[in-house]
Amino acid sequence: MNYRFSIAIIGGGVLGLAVAYTFLSRGFKDIVLLEKNNGFGLEQSGSNSGVIHAGFLYETGTLMAKLCVEGTELLYAFCEKNGVPHKQTGKLMVATNEEQEKELQKYVKLAENNGLQDVSIISGKEVKKLEPCLEVKSALHIPQSGIFDSSTYVSTLYKKAAAMHDTPDMLMKSCEVVRIEPKQDRFTLHAEQSRGDKQNWHLDCEILINAAGLYSWDIAKMISLKLPYEKQYLRGEYYQFNRRDNLFINMNVYPVPILVILPDGGHFLDLGAHLTPKVGPDERGKTLVAKEILIGPIFTEVHNPEDFRSTIDQSVFYQSVGPFLPSLKEEYLYKGHTGIIGLIKDQTDFIILRDESYPNCIHLLGMESPALTASLAIGKFVANTIS
Ligand SMILES: Cc1cc2nc3c(=O)[nH]c(=O)nc-3n(C[C@H](O)[C@H](O)[C@H](O)COP(=O)(O)OP(=O)(O)OC[C@H]3O[C@@H](n4cnc5c(N)ncnc54)[C@H](O)[C@@H]3O)c2cc1C
Repeated sequence: MNYRFSIAIIGGGVLGLAVAYTFLSRGFKDIVLLEKNNGFGLEQSGSNSGVIHAGFLYETGTLMAKLCVEGTELLYAFCEKNGVPHKQTGKLMVATNEEQEKELQKYVKLAENNGLQDVSIISGKEVKKLEPCLEVKSALHIPQSGIFDSSTYVSTLYKKAAAMHDTPDMLMKSCEVVRIEPKQDRFTLHAEQSRGDKQNWHLDCEILINAAGLYSWDIAKMISLKLPYEKQYLRGEYYQFNRRDNLFINMNVYPVPILVILPDGGHFLDLGAHLTPKVGPDERGKTLVAKEILIGPIFTEVHNPEDFRSTIDQSVFYQSVGPFLPSLKEEYLYKGHTGIIGLIKDQTDFIILRDESYPNCIHLLGMESPALTASLAIGKFVANTIS
């Protein structure tokens, strides 16, 4: 089948959908979105921590800092308006020794520079008032942070986008882009449908948005042979436990992050295994902190984006949070989910770039955390870049 569109988006994760939603909200309706899976948001967007990050961790002036701070506000407003379960719980970054206490100072300054107010260091005693089960020396308190149901968010974004589209079927599932022919001022996308009558599609578009997540580097390579980046995958594993009378937390609890240097010289900021309560409605539909609490993710480098094997022993999860959560016992832990994240080697910012040879194509590369939080701001950023 042959079709022509103004805008084509590859990828129906949270970012492809946020871009589609933004364009459609602005009245651009001549859009097609192609998603290879039989559902939207089933890869990174469906296997994360569900944390609404505040934006205090990222270097001032980076896209990550700016879009996260803006995205947090947009995300709370979207969730509130559209009934997506969420809660502004706040976050604690906890220090258990003097060295870590010194580190906290750096993040107060960073938060201030990134435009966040009321981020402060609180004593171990004050921590106890907020979270009675924690034993720490002191902590950074970030009131803007929260938790939300990312799967409901993705499905709501899809429904809102589809409702604005004249032909909602053009937000297509089970349709994989397998080849791209860039031309002077257009692109032809060749896509294979994996369900129904399994037809092949040949779609022409003027503007192409590559939001293919773990595969965005491969899509970029179909267009541009001179890509100056190298891809990298990290597998994040989780364990979880259920709240009990003497064992609960109500907010996000993180250790002080560590800069990890990889054997090949690459690096990334490891946030460390953190505690994230899940969010869920009670029997009256009111959103509250659910009984399940996640520990993780703990990351390992993998070379295949579908390598979901579990390799980290539960004792590692227990030991990483045990020092500040003494009432936790190892036997309370049970296996949680696993998610793979796509990075660009040695980059510590989002990479949203126009293709060097074909400027009507925008690549979203290495859209790691906090891209879920920042998704609506990223949607606006991409739409503004094009319009
Ligand atoms: C373990 C983990 C924890 C995280 N925790 C958080 C968190 O707490 N807070 C936060 O803000 N962020 C978090 N993130 C990051 C966040 O989940 C991602 O940044 C975000 O989901 C990226 O969205 P995306 O749309 O770019 O990618 P994806 O969700 O991966 O979507 C890309 C889509 O493109 C499709 N696609 C790929 N190739 C093709 C093709 N050839 N044709 C058609 N479709 C194609 C894929 O099927 C996929 O659905 C976490 C990520 C992980 C893995």
